[in-house]
Amino acid sequence: MMGLMIRSSLAVAAVLVLGSGPAAAQNSPRAGMLEQDGWAAIKAGQAQAAADTFKAAIVLDPKNARLHFGAGLAAFLQRRDADAKAALEQALALDPRLTAARAQLAQVLRRQQDFQGAISLFEVVVAEWPEDPAVRDTLARWKREMELHERMRLAVGDHFTVSFEGPEDADMASKALEALDRAFWRICDVFGAFPTRSVPVVLYSGEQFRDITRSPSWAAGAYDGTIRVPMRGALDQGEELDRVLAHEFAHALIRSLATRSLPTWLNEGLAAVLESDDLSWAQQRVAKARSVPSLTVLAGPFGKLNGNDATVAYAASALAARALLDEAGGAAVANLLRDLGEGIDFEAAFVHRIQRSFAEFQASLGK
Ligand SMILES: [Zn+2]
Repeated sequence: MMGLMIRSSLAVAAVLVLGSGPAAAQNSPRAGMLEQDGWAAIKAGQAQAAADTFKAAIVLDPKNARLHFGAGLAAFLQRRDADAKAALEQALALDPRLTAARAQLAQVLRRQQDFQGAISLFEVVVAEWPEDPAVRDTLARWKREMELHERMRLAVGDHFTVSFEGPEDADMASKALEALDRAFWRICDVFGAFPTRSVPVVLYSGEQFRDITRSPSWAAGAYDGTIRVPMRGALDQGEELDRVLAHEFAHALIRSLATRSLPTWLNEGLAAVLESDDLSWAQQRVAKARSVPSLTVLAGPFGKLNGNDATVAYAASALAARALLDEAGGAAVANLLRDLGEGIDFEAAFVHRIQRSFAEFQASLGK
């Protein structure tokens, strides 16, 4: 019934490869210290701090490939794909043996929809890391994904392009476009904002969806720059189709306002509120739950939760997002998202846009 954000496990693998070993000879001891801080920030999930730290280190030691790799990884985590590509290419120009940087660059190309480029690079990575089965699995998955996309057809609407597999799915694709258009006007109206470009949507069979997105079994859709939804089962019912597509389109619009620094409860809560007008499921779920995690806990990712905990997490997030929209209005929430995307501190942005502290807002929930 829900979607989720896709995270890069390779980014973390790269940190383990590079970040924990002893630093190689440094041209500048200060740059060496900054590098350690940069990797620590990446591990802690503080992408902005990591970006700032690697940038400062590069000024001191501009020929150090690992620093450019770190800067590229931080940019990738912040979804600044063009910056990530430039930094990783620089890292590889300085040290062509830096396999982790090549693996990360392949991830950037894939996210930019350059499947062939990503696969070619990753074939080199597999040759350089022959003992790593996860790397081989990733390459095989990407190849299946590209083959599937090559087979797919395209339905183009005003605001969306929908890819689907066989002619028998064309009817479903046009229903999906209609549902997406309804969601578009309704959700854009709430925020007073519109996505700047056409949103790509891919309709998969259920099996392809799990394979390509590696979503947990409870996910009914995913958004990673492309809206991805399994067609069979849930989507055979009209209402479910509307709900899932509205949820994932809400993520697309939220992402166009803020590419980074969003607490998960806010991102998922808004998407859950905007998927339909009926929040009785969330009220019932929270009322029945033995304990409900705080919004501070729900700022972290939901992807590892089991189905039951995930439902409580989504329900609590949805009720908080509903309260926020009722209290401050969609335009103020859109401004909060924009501030977070620009790197403004959460508490400061919250007070400015919502007109009271986050602690006060949290305390008011459920009263
Ligand atoms: Zn979602």
